[in-house]
Amino acid sequence: MRFLVSTIILIFLQACSQNHQPIKTSPMENKEAKNNPYYSRTDTTKLNVSNEEWKKILAPDLYAVAREAATERAFTGKYNEFDEIGDYYCAVCGHHLFRSTSKFASSCGWASFFEADKEGVYYKKDSSYGMERVEVLCKRCDSHLGHIFDDGPKPTGLRYCMNSVSLEFVPDSQK
Ligand SMILES: [Zn+2]
Repeated sequence: MRFLVSTIILIFLQACSQNHQPIKTSPMENKEAKNNPYYSRTDTTKLNVSNEEWKKILAPDLYAVAREAATERAFTGKYNEFDEIGDYYCAVCGHHLFRSTSKFASSCGWASFFEADKEGVYYKKDSSYGMERVEVLCKRCDSHLGHIFDDGPKPTGLRYCMNSVSLEFVPDSQK
């Protein structure tokens, strides 16, 4: 009997402690937004910030990809195998780039989308590394995001091959 009572008390205590779990951090408290005065999910004003300035603000891995067009290693990105419902923003400036409904499972090793926010990105011819590719950049802050290819699924046939480090995902549950 005593054992039963203590078991019930234990279950009760566990149930209580679950109510005291830490509250989810607010989207604005993410590491990208901290110490970054240019970061905003609502202000779409074009930014003109020098790389010298960005270097002081951004984490080294984000700076290398976003401002020097480096590419993260295949299959290492945090959004490569990721299918939560929400939106993807520019990790540098907070500009809206993709909706999760346009993300698809690609075997290429990088987060892949078939459609971008038309107000979110622009394109530039990229002839580096002996390849003819089309670079995808953030319309607000000119940061490098990845490349676009024409071997994607319907309805667009496009594949936005993105570096996860350049993206910041915000689930619908946090809006
Ligand atoms: Zn941006």
